[in-house]
Amino acid sequence: MPALRLGDDIDDYCIKCKRVTNHSILAIVDGEPVKVRCRSCYNEGPYRRCVIPPSKRELQKAALLKQLLEQAPAPPPPAAGPEPAGKALPKPARKAATKAAGRKKS
Ligand SMILES: [Zn+2]
Repeated sequence: MPALRLGDDIDDYCIKCKRVTNHSILAIVDGEPVKVRCRSCYNEGPYRRCVIPPSKRELQKAALLKQLLEQAPAPPPPAAGPEPAGKALPKPARKAATKAAGRKKS
């Protein structure tokens, strides 16, 4: 990819147009565009890498979910079952053994 230069065309999401449009690069830092201007509406903004920023409604939803999770009682600690933890281990080994046997047959 050739190095980007000021004024170059670049695709990015425009918050005014609410879609990905052609943008002109206004500022570059370390070879990465940081500020762009929409070629359709001339709105200037940070380069978003075509990532659509979350809407206010999405932010509200996320905040509400976080609030609910914080209010929810902590899950009870895993009860110590009657079986010792070591018993669960042989299962994957058995699976691998059947696989190996199948390979031998064919
Ligand atoms: Zn625009």
